[in-house]
Amino acid sequence: MSLYETVKEQLDLRSVAEHYGINSRNGMTACIFHDDRSPSMKLYADHYYCFGCSACGDVTAFTARLFGISQAEAAQKLASDFGIAELHNTVKPSIKSQLTIIGERQREQEAFRVLCDYCHLLRFARTELAPKSESEPFHPLFIESLQHLEEYEFYCDIFISGSKEERTKFMNERRNFLNELKRKLYAPLERAETIA
Ligand SMILES: [Zn+2]
Repeated sequence: MSLYETVKEQLDLRSVAEHYGINSRNGMTACIFHDDRSPSMKLYADHYYCFGCSACGDVTAFTARLFGISQAEAAQKLASDFGIAELHNTVKPSIKSQLTIIGERQREQEAFRVLCDYCHLLRFARTELAPKSESEPFHPLFIESLQHLEEYEFYCDIFISGSKEERTKFMNERRNFLNELKRKLYAPLERAETIA
């Protein structure tokens, strides 16, 4: 629905006229289209009609005439004067902004999944890849689990209990880090699948 249609649908012409200082008695008022000595214009909820000059139209045409502006400008003015522009936007967010929100949510879900998987891998490494004897060299993942597991678990918490701002900040600042984790997690599998 266009702003023009929304304005027409939501506004009552008599209330609009009154708001702009046009007084009427039983809906009758002096015509704003011709030099009217007796009130010959009738205001209805959705249109006006003048018994003197036959002028007739809707709330945007009425407002356009009243302020000497175009009907498109009148629709804008009515929307802003009666707070309809805002409603128009909140009730019907554009498809583009909806897609942006969905895209953000999907990226956050993926980041959370990558972090969880990586923590899972490091928890496994800390117990199962721990050296069995003093002479056995340390596995790189075992070392990483000692250095970073708690830190990465803290990152997971941002997605579980953090605010939207904290999540967005993390996503913006740690993009390379997340891609690196993803590469380490899934790249070997993909390569294995390709070979098989
Ligand atoms: Zn008239």
